[in-house]
Amino acid sequence: MKVLVPVKRVVDYNVKVRVKSDQSGVDIANVKMSMNPFDEIAVEEAVRLKEAGKATEIVAVSCGVLQSQETLRTAMAIGADRSILVETDAELQPLAVAKLLKAIADKEQPQLIILGKQAIDDDANQTGQMLAALLDWPQATYASKVEVDGDKADAPRVKVTREVDGGLEVVSLTLPAIVTTDLRLNEPRYVTLPNIMKAKKKTLDNVKPADLGVDVTPRLKTLKVSEPAGRAAGIIVPDVATLVDKLKNEAKVI
Ligand code: AMP
Repeated sequence: MKVLVPVKRVVDYNVKVRVKSDQSGVDIANVKMSMNPFDEIAVEEAVRLKEAGKATEIVAVSCGVLQSQETLRTAMAIGADRSILVETDAELQPLAVAKLLKAIADKEQPQLIILGKQAIDDDANQTGQMLAALLDWPQATYASKVEVDGDKADAPRVKVTREVDGGLEVVSLTLPAIVTTDLRLNEPRYVTLPNIMKAKKKTLDNVKPADLGVDVTPRLKTLKVSEPAGRAAGIIVPDVATLVDKLKNEAKVI
């Protein structure tokens, strides 16, 4: 079973981004970039499926600027076998990414595509769902457990435990299928230096959106980006009676 894992290069989750003075977006010049954390979980899950003998090949794919090669190298250091960069300097919105991934899926014919549930930069939570619609494949989002039935060559179904509001939901999908990862699916392994060195020898193909016949022109326009409103300072009340009084009469929440 071939597994495709889309990985996005995003601002590292430890970086506190600043809004640009013209409010057109956030300033990402000279900030540390990393693989989207949910995508690291996706790569780890694919590698575990391969180690368990369920997956035969893992292909990582990233859409974006040339530096996304670093993200793909990290994916290959975790255990992806090869990778594809769909290189463009254009701003990519989820629908454009989904179309690019569909074109790659049509060529690669994977049986399973594991994406992150959302990218931590745009927080869109759309790409996996749009890709499932474009491919007309079943999807299971917010996975906290993935079990593939059958052996390497012919794995007909995947059982996915999903994190939903009321608890956990278990669904069974026919393959090919789309899965998106939630935080509790696994804990990604550390990337070791020997594996980074080995990843340098793995294949990294480069294609352009035009090679795939995909128009990536943005459909959405960002009107304004602003900082969230600052929170008012808290106060210390002398006793419980004052607290209850304030909650009742000032905040009016009880
Ligand atoms: P989003 O819909 O933007 O929140 O992203 C959800 C998931 O889609 C991410 O976790 C990635 O797995 C995938 N994805 C989004 N953008 C890209 C991209 N530019 N390149 C590769 N994968 C992407």
